[in-house]
Amino acid sequence: MASVLKNIGLILIIVLHIKYIQPYPADVLIDEMQEEDDGTIDLSRFGDAIFGDPDESVGRMVDEWTPESGTNAEELGNYFEGDILIPFSEARNGLVKESSRWRNNIIPYVFHSSVSSQDRSLINQAINEYHAKTCLKFVPRSSEKDYISFESSSSGCWSSVGRIGGKQSLNLQSGGCTRIGTIEHEMMHALGFLHEQNRYDRDDFVTVIKQNIKPDTLPNFEKARYGETTAYDVTYDKGSVMHYSPTAFSRNGQKTILSKNGSDGQMGQRNGFARSDLLRINAMYKCDSQISGGGYPSGNTGGNNVSPPRPQPARPKPIQRPGNNAAGALISGLGSFFQALGSG
Ligand SMILES: [Zn+2]
Repeated sequence: MASVLKNIGLILIIVLHIKYIQPYPADVLIDEMQEEDDGTIDLSRFGDAIFGDPDESVGRMVDEWTPESGTNAEELGNYFEGDILIPFSEARNGLVKESSRWRNNIIPYVFHSSVSSQDRSLINQAINEYHAKTCLKFVPRSSEKDYISFESSSSGCWSSVGRIGGKQSLNLQSGGCTRIGTIEHEMMHALGFLHEQNRYDRDDFVTVIKQNIKPDTLPNFEKARYGETTAYDVTYDKGSVMHYSPTAFSRNGQKTILSKNGSDGQMGQRNGFARSDLLRINAMYKCDSQISGGGYPSGNTGGNNVSPPRPQPARPKPIQRPGNNAAGALISGLGSFFQALGSG
């Protein structure tokens, strides 16, 4: 009888465990964990469109570009979304469908001989901004396998998305592509970020005016599907350095992107990181939130549009040396007393 009761009890425990203790199938839990931890960036939705060859006809357009044109030089390319390119020569292991974040937040780099000393100092300015406002470390390459090669060929502004393995070029044609915000923009691509205006939720913030877009560049405005990319809980920002300018890829000079609330003022700015950019970088690379200060205010109107800072870790208390507290004072006082006895 006792053994029958014991068996019934055991079956009851198993049934209750399946029904109430495991609300999700085990494979769902495993999938979520992998997405959280392995640092891969899924490029499969772009198909083969991100692979190609640097194009000198883009270089000629960038040569003619002026800041007064109202667009950004990286919007002149015929590459994927204007400036995303993995050259065939760097597409090892075939046409890869995923890239990765940089390991340990360290990004080795070299300057190709085509980069002038003036442009090197502009790129160093951008690197210094990353060092001051994020936990990323750009280090001159010694023998690391994966690294960025800053180059300056006459083929416009372009970069891969994320770490693709081996050498990866990041091209900044002198002049049009060497504004601080454009350098930071291309570097953010290399870190794994995509264009702000193609987020899945962009239609809540801007209107894309298709009839003003050059028809062959319409795919540049294709937005991600929900769940394909992560926004790291940072609200959409027209003032992000990853946002197109209001007349990007226009066929008639008219606006292709209109703000749904407020002015288009900050849209597509390239003066430097927006606060939202720094929040995103520091979230992707799990930086201490204390580092994420600075940056331009959000380009959206209607108050603070960036998420509140994450809770900060408790700081360790400063270590007190003996003598700085009551016990220390007592010990040091007794020492003097016995010293006085000894000498007396
Ligand atoms: Zn871009």
